[in-house]
Amino acid sequence: MKLSRIISNQNGTSRQRANALIAAGRVTVNGQVCREPQQEVDRFASVTVDGAVIRHAAPARYLMLNKPAGYLSATVDDTHPTVLDLFAPELRAGLHIGGRLDRASTGLLIVTNDGNWSRRLTEPRIKIPKVYRVTTGAAITAEAHRRFAEGIWFEYEQLRTSPAHIEQLAECQARVTIYEGRYHQVKRMFHAVGNRVTSLHRESMGGIRLDPGLQPGQYRELTAAEVASVA
Ligand code: URA
Repeated sequence: MKLSRIISNQNGTSRQRANALIAAGRVTVNGQVCREPQQEVDRFASVTVDGAVIRHAAPARYLMLNKPAGYLSATVDDTHPTVLDLFAPELRAGLHIGGRLDRASTGLLIVTNDGNWSRRLTEPRIKIPKVYRVTTGAAITAEAHRRFAEGIWFEYEQLRTSPAHIEQLAECQARVTIYEGRYHQVKRMFHAVGNRVTSLHRESMGGIRLDPGLQPGQYRELTAAEVASVA
């Protein structure tokens, strides 16, 4: 939000008055005088006017959850429990999901209140690898390996997925790496090669691996290194 808007909203003053306060050097952002009314200020910055705090810095939160099956990757829903229900109530405000998992899917789910950060995690152009352990209804063929490596054409979006990699673990089991996170992407890729996903578990997103110490439904804060790995 623009600095002048924050001042006028929080102080109940006009935009013109807010601009005058900013121009006069009476406003600080994170302790530094800011004289630019159009400055974009994120929710993690503190703002003062004449030394009085008008907005405290919100703590940035970065969490990983071991998502159990049966929970929707949504913040609210009328019929199903959502993954946010698994977090302590005092943590929930402002959280959103960085890369959804289907209701039946399990494993690594990232939850944060930092939209700029989560955009980097999910933006298809940035091509962060997402790794899934997949079980299928039929044997995974050499043809599937080849088609995944070429990228699969998605008619609805009119695009070809980035080349994906299949590491075969058993006849009907594989570790699959994709570089986007399109709607039902892994299931649709297997469907395109005449197969069907029967279980899907996300192991990692970029440098962030699901902590093996987390039982389904448990979560923890990301470490500073994990946060920084999403550059
Ligand atoms: N691809 C899918 O099909 N489902 C998920 O939950 C994640 C990736």
